[in-house]
Amino acid sequence: MIIVLKPSATEREIGHIVAKIKEAGLKSHISKGEERTIIGVVGDERALQSQPLLAFPGVEGVLPILAPYKLVSREFKKENTVLDVQGIQIGGKRLVMMAGPCSVEKQDLLSSIAQEVKEAGAVILRGGAFKPRTSPYAFQGLGEEGLEYLTEAKKKTGLLIITEIMDPRDMPMMMKHADIIQIGARNMQNFRLLAEVGSYNKPVMLKRGLSATIKEFLLSAEYIMAAGNSQVILCERGIRTFETATRNTLDLSAVPVIRELSHLPIIIDPSHAVGKTHLVAPMAKAAVAAGADGLIIEVHSNPEEAYCDGEQAMLPKDFKTLMAQLRRIAAAVDREL
Ligand code: PEP
Ligand code: MN
Repeated sequence: MIIVLKPSATEREIGHIVAKIKEAGLKSHISKGEERTIIGVVGDERALQSQPLLAFPGVEGVLPILAPYKLVSREFKKENTVLDVQGIQIGGKRLVMMAGPCSVEKQDLLSSIAQEVKEAGAVILRGGAFKPRTSPYAFQGLGEEGLEYLTEAKKKTGLLIITEIMDPRDMPMMMKHADIIQIGARNMQNFRLLAEVGSYNKPVMLKRGLSATIKEFLLSAEYIMAAGNSQVILCERGIRTFETATRNTLDLSAVPVIRELSHLPIIIDPSHAVGKTHLVAPMAKAAVAAGADGLIIEVHSNPEEAYCDGEQAMLPKDFKTLMAQLRRIAAAVDREL
């Protein structure tokens, strides 16, 4: 349920309500808006039924949340969430571009790709050090060494780092190197991983599972938020359909649908959606037109030699051309880039 407070509610009154919620064995999530504060109550609400919440000082109204996901829902928070990740706003008027290789390979190569995507206008460097590969014989990533290369590239370029976690035990290592933790499509319903990442104070980008509905996707985001971490970014990266012409089918309608259902920022990954380099740019443009808050794109200076996903990697020069086109589309939909 949502407890809507009067604009005049004092800190003391808020503290009293929160204490009662705790006593009933439930969790409260306080959201301070510009005009008023609301308290989201999560857990089995029957425990609160004996409390006349409306009689508490400071309370204006009590509303049920109808969606199965609570903290993630637009019902819980009307305004879009804008995350501030070390000065980079995600979910605001300015679109966020994340780019880089699929996996971290060599240090010099990573730093040179980072430099090039930065010059083109990216603000966040992507690169996996732990790779979820279909085959156990495929390149699995450099592990901690890869994370160190990312940190090195960050020092040289100032780009922030997004990188994937696969094992909850790696969280302390991730805290040292990542600015945003990525949870990949294959782990969208790894609930222990979601809860672990949710117990840290670090932005998380959750990718939609290969065959997850939007409801399941938002419920997975709810796991992270329910564990205490409200810095969640959603990412649509294509879903499995009967179509084989592309690696996956990009569900662009996820952007306006999620916009309606949730207040969280939504990023599009056209690279994993289409799986072929020449199809990435058209879908990137469509994503900006559809209202995405940003893109994550795979870029490699030598796709032929890439350890992973070379067939969908853009060359830095093509990424730069795309950025110029995206700027014009962004302006047409009242965004900046
Ligand atoms: C990735 O971004 O490198 C990746 C593995 O993507 P996904 O989880 O969407 O397949
Ligand atoms: Mn990839």
